[in-house]
Amino acid sequence: MRRINKGICVFAVLLGVSLAAAPVMVRAEEGALSENAMIGKSQEPSIWGGGTSSGGGAFRQGGETSSGPGDINQEDGMPAGQTETFTWDPSWPYAQYSQIHSSSVNLYHAGNSRGIVVAVNAGHGTEGGSYVQTLCHPDGTPKVTGGSTSEGATYATAVSSGTTMLDGTEEARVTLSLALILKEKLLEHGYDVLMIRESEDVQLDNIARTVFANQYADCHLALHYDSTEYDKGFFYMSVPDVASYRSMEPVASCWPLHEALGQSLVEGVKKAGVKVFDIGSMPMDLTQTSYSTVPSVDVEVGDRASDCSSWTQTLIAEGILAGLDLYFERP
Ligand SMILES: [Zn+2]
Repeated sequence: MRRINKGICVFAVLLGVSLAAAPVMVRAEEGALSENAMIGKSQEPSIWGGGTSSGGGAFRQGGETSSGPGDINQEDGMPAGQTETFTWDPSWPYAQYSQIHSSSVNLYHAGNSRGIVVAVNAGHGTEGGSYVQTLCHPDGTPKVTGGSTSEGATYATAVSSGTTMLDGTEEARVTLSLALILKEKLLEHGYDVLMIRESEDVQLDNIARTVFANQYADCHLALHYDSTEYDKGFFYMSVPDVASYRSMEPVASCWPLHEALGQSLVEGVKKAGVKVFDIGSMPMDLTQTSYSTVPSVDVEVGDRASDCSSWTQTLIAEGILAGLDLYFERP
């Protein structure tokens, strides 16, 4: 099965390809990537066509594995059901910008793996994260849109505490329940899953979460509920159409893929019958986007007034799954 790596980000821009065509074009060109045009995980061998190791290639060597039953998987070379644990490496690209990174992350291998790793990042849930500041952009430039951090700021909260649902439940708790449902759904359908947070607290700031996804995943989904109160529906945070932002690395190399992934997710959730807000996107300058070297989106799956029952969260997870299928199976 096809895999994606960071090299694609570079070519999506170098070739000036259209949003919709980006994943197609870069597949065709990937073999031509020069080493110095690549970022991070692109140091691993080309993996389109599958059959080689999954995810982080050489970076995986530091991972600890736990035993699991099952046959060797044909796509990712790992025994079905096996889990790998990865700890922080300060030498990774952009790692030096993170302030909180003492937790490890787990990679779960699907029983019938497609060889695609999805990073599932349950938003918020880092104790002490709101007292620490990190650079909004790796080059130190100010934020180009407002949001939880105002436009013009150069530093943002490392991990904010998030909003509270109208029934009093913290956002971090409902993003976690959705992440756990999504994890099972993705594994059932052959996606390997990198779980960024699996309990109430993880000591990883938004930059560390992004850097882990950059290293080990083929795409990065951060799950959130918005702070409005009218059950407005699902949308993703799109890359602001601001020249200075879109020309800053690694945004410059990756933004068409962030957009293509976001649009696929909106298409997928629509198919599943999930309510979508407006055009399905809202431009936002986010830390996650500013440091992502793999296709990466923050999705706001609902807001404070939205139903968070497992039935509704299962529907959202099915929609996200459908969106990922659209994205990775593009002709
Ligand atoms: Zn949030």
